[in-house]
Amino acid sequence: AFPLDGRRIWVAGHGGMVGRALVRRLAEEDCEVLVTPRPALDLSRQADVEDWMAQARPDGVIVAAARVGGIHANAAYPADFIQQNLSISANIIHAAHLSGVRKLLYLGSSCVYPRLAPQPIDEGALLSGALEPTNQWYAVAKIAGIKMCQAYRRQHGRDFIAVMPTNLYGPGDNYDPLTSHVPAALIRRFHEAKVDGRSRAVVWGTGRPRREFLYVDDLADACVFALKHWSSEDLLNVGTGQDMSIAHFAAEVAAVVGFGGEIVFDPQRPDGAPRKVLDVTRLRRAGWRARTPLEDGLRATYADFLAGGGRYG
Ligand code: GDP
Repeated sequence: AFPLDGRRIWVAGHGGMVGRALVRRLAEEDCEVLVTPRPALDLSRQADVEDWMAQARPDGVIVAAARVGGIHANAAYPADFIQQNLSISANIIHAAHLSGVRKLLYLGSSCVYPRLAPQPIDEGALLSGALEPTNQWYAVAKIAGIKMCQAYRRQHGRDFIAVMPTNLYGPGDNYDPLTSHVPAALIRRFHEAKVDGRSRAVVWGTGRPRREFLYVDDLADACVFALKHWSSEDLLNVGTGQDMSIAHFAAEVAAVVGFGGEIVFDPQRPDGAPRKVLDVTRLRRAGWRARTPLEDGLRATYADFLAGGGRYG
């Protein structure tokens, strides 16, 4: 076990949706939370990351920094997604090793698993088949980060662990219509359709792909749990274990937003992976499960959107 009491924990990427949830959750622990504003530290610069780590000397590190985006952003910016994520991951993990960090938690993604992995996807599916092409750039960088954690554990005995969150949503998301993920995209689109009094709103793809959605504060709670209790080369999936079609999800979002018009599907837009739901048996056996019902999480997210908490593209 790695008790957090009295420790200094660096949340790399504290300004993003996941990082902000981690900072909220860690405030409940008796630890000191370190953050690095972007102008003060560029995570894509190896020497700068090493210097900062040598001087700040955190006991624990959570790698929540990443260039992220939805299905369109991945397709539009493949070089950014692979280069930025590879360098951020490699720089932080290597610097953590050099400065003797006691525990590091690396955030991967459910898109690291093969496109046609048996569902629900268990951790053993990693590298057992071809990736989903729409987000392969991001996935390859995240797989490299996972493998680095395993390699530093083997060669240097470092307690570096990796967790794989499923599709996330929550306060602090990116609401840009083009680069967002589906939850933030639909909250904004349905809200604007409602305000403008329109009778129709468009949802990308066929509506048939199936996804699992985890509230970001649940993920943050799982990360704190894993930081304290998980010490293994084995990955840890984090999800609800339940999925739904995009059509069903869109109807849930429309209900929360109060958009009563027609939902129209645009099959010219990509569907991405046909189904993505994680097998969360390993994490449940360890003693953790997700708590927030979808409707509650969507209500909190919509309230955050209305309060202008999200970044508008
Ligand atoms: P993915 O899980 O990596 O495919 O991430 P996304 O959140 O971008 O997309 C999830 C699913 O929602 C895909 O099948 C998309 O086609 C679908 N989708 C429907 N409407 C939208 C939208 O407005 N934006 C995004 N990003 N996806 C949408």
